[in-house]
Amino acid sequence: MNEFELIDRFFRHCGARRTDVALGVGDDAALLACPPDEELVAAIDTLVEGRHFPKGSPPNSIGYRALAVNLSDLAAMGAKPAWALLALTLTQADEPWLTAFAAGFGRLARIHGVALVGGDTTAGPLSTTVQMLGHVPKGKALRRRGGRPGDILFVSGTPGDAAAGLAIEQGRLQAHDADRDHYLRERFLFPTPRVELGQRLRDYASACIDISDGLLGDAGKLAVASGCGVEIAFLKLPLSAPLTAAVGDERARELALTGGDDYELCFTVPPDALAALQRDLPQEKWGYRAIGALSAAPGCVVVRDGTVMEFSHRGFDHFSP
Ligand code: ADP
Ligand code: MG
Repeated sequence: MNEFELIDRFFRHCGARRTDVALGVGDDAALLACPPDEELVAAIDTLVEGRHFPKGSPPNSIGYRALAVNLSDLAAMGAKPAWALLALTLTQADEPWLTAFAAGFGRLARIHGVALVGGDTTAGPLSTTVQMLGHVPKGKALRRRGGRPGDILFVSGTPGDAAAGLAIEQGRLQAHDADRDHYLRERFLFPTPRVELGQRLRDYASACIDISDGLLGDAGKLAVASGCGVEIAFLKLPLSAPLTAAVGDERARELALTGGDDYELCFTVPPDALAALQRDLPQEKWGYRAIGALSAAPGCVVVRDGTVMEFSHRGFDHFSP
């Protein structure tokens, strides 16, 4: 199989079909029509084997995550995803591996109506780079900046699950219960980018970030960009039942704060927009929870029963021997 055959077979028809793609895979570049009155939103992320996913990860998960991490960036901007480009570096052209990789990528692309419009294919150590393009009404994008002291801090989903799932994948966390382990592994292998929630939040949130490196650090980045501090309530963190069952309540909360790879949204809402948020995007339906607030004093603190907790940067290292 030469490079041309590989692209034709696995990637020409991998994503969704879109009428705004004037020219897709096959020419020197793609031609795309951005809707008038909208801004083009662009993000790019690389995943390297052994660094962003374990060696020997299931190829359908690698394909899925390559796109998911980028969809999450667009979600955090409140943007609508539309087109992706895929730069794939492979050690060899293994057909079953490519079939599963393209299936994982294509499944998520079709869920969100994303067309794969181009890319590059090279030989070398396994890595994927996806450039994601989308659009947002002019001036309406969510930013990390924009939060103010007193704004309420929210997080979607149940952070910490992916870090535990990765630990199970790598044999650092002992497996006990098949259903529980399956749930946690799936949260790492197939995270859910909050694409719809991000777009809906445009009318309510003052600031937004997606959490890829851990809630505590990423909430801190939002706070710094907003010129604020942030206070997170340890006992308000939303935890999944499988996570607390697997590691206990205390460690589950630490993982929710410091574990990576969740791809949830962390956002702030001004107090006067809370009623509208709850009315239009009920939290039971959309799966987010208030976990704290922005403060005037700089810094990122975790509070438990009125006391500030100490957190080391080794927080996420709980599974190392
Ligand atoms: P060029 O000779 O211009 O570098 P390539 O041979 O790299 O072109 O690619 C040929 C066509 O296939 C281009 O349209 C390119 O965007 C597309 N392409 C290459 N690799 C991929 C890939 N992994 N996924 C999707 N499209 C790809
Ligand atoms: Mg090329």
